[in-house]
Amino acid sequence: MKAVLQDRSFAEIAELVAAAGEKPFRAKQIFEGIAQGRKLSALPIPSKLRAYLLESFEDEPVKISETFVSADGTKKFLFELADGNLIEGVFMKYKYGNTQCVSTQVGCRMGCKFCASTLGGRLRDLTAGEILGQILAVNRAEGGTLKERAVTNVVLMGSGEPFDNYENVVKFLRNVTAEGGICISARNISLSTCGLVPEMRAFAREGIPVNLTVSLHAVSDEERARTMPIANRYKIADILEACAYYFEKTGRRYIFEYSLIEGENADERHALALAKLLKGRPCHVNLIRLNEVKERSLKGTSEETAQAFLATLERCGVSATLRRSMGSDIGGACGQLRASYIKKGEERP
Ligand code: SAH
Repeated sequence: MKAVLQDRSFAEIAELVAAAGEKPFRAKQIFEGIAQGRKLSALPIPSKLRAYLLESFEDEPVKISETFVSADGTKKFLFELADGNLIEGVFMKYKYGNTQCVSTQVGCRMGCKFCASTLGGRLRDLTAGEILGQILAVNRAEGGTLKERAVTNVVLMGSGEPFDNYENVVKFLRNVTAEGGICISARNISLSTCGLVPEMRAFAREGIPVNLTVSLHAVSDEERARTMPIANRYKIADILEACAYYFEKTGRRYIFEYSLIEGENADERHALALAKLLKGRPCHVNLIRLNEVKERSLKGTSEETAQAFLATLERCGVSATLRRSMGSDIGGACGQLRASYIKKGEERP
């Protein structure tokens, strides 16, 4: 595989252009052309410079190979990477804008018992440009431009653990929010982690004010370890401390994902324990009924159980929302939460 030009910041592309002995304004043409989702072979630059770039860089590192459209309008994209690996992402339309869910790794090695993405382990990390490339490809496919973007919001909730690919994810976040590029505001980006505490703390110091989302899914370390092996490494108390640190550094409240699993974490006592854990913290809870993954035995709760859980949290003064899945007819859930970043009603997280 050649290098990925979409990994590069504007300053890095400017250096490349200078090294090639080209005029500085070419850097802007290249950076903008890439942000428009063009292949390198379709960049509006002299053919000599194009050929120079194509010697070292992939023409189209993230290619849309298939598109599935759900009856509810949700779209699922299958992307092919330059080395033939496949990843998938979901595009969801809302009143307030359109959200693209992206993957950060090919597969995942966190081993959560309810998740399909981890079934084959982690094949490799995505580069910063391969994460960005998913957004650029979909923005273009959906008729978006740099001024009128089709993708306005991004969630890092596809396959992979973002903080297990820390450097590339941070680089991606800097590039996706950069002026002159697709320029998506950090406030419109949600990063979801299973709770890698040292990386959460390091991330708080990066000064990138995204919505930090933590997959909690349990109220005690013992119960959490039953479905999430990462719980053997990091305690809930340390996760909560890292969240508080994130708030201290960024002023951003944080979000917890809590997937309701029948017979596992969804009883009244769990709701009360969760409320006790989170009460008074500047956070929000996103509840979702577990999407059943056919290779896994865990089941989602009934709508009734989910509503009761929500009511208990609210009664205890914890801000929470119950989301619904979308795109289930196109496998939008991916056994991941990919297409379920949707809640009832239309308000923002
Ligand atoms: N690795 C990151 C992000 C990927 S998954 C993380 O763990 O947060 C995004 C969300 O989907 C996570 O909250 C994850 O726990 C959840 N999820 C995975 N499989 C699911 C399923 N089958 N049903 C409901 N939520 C699921």
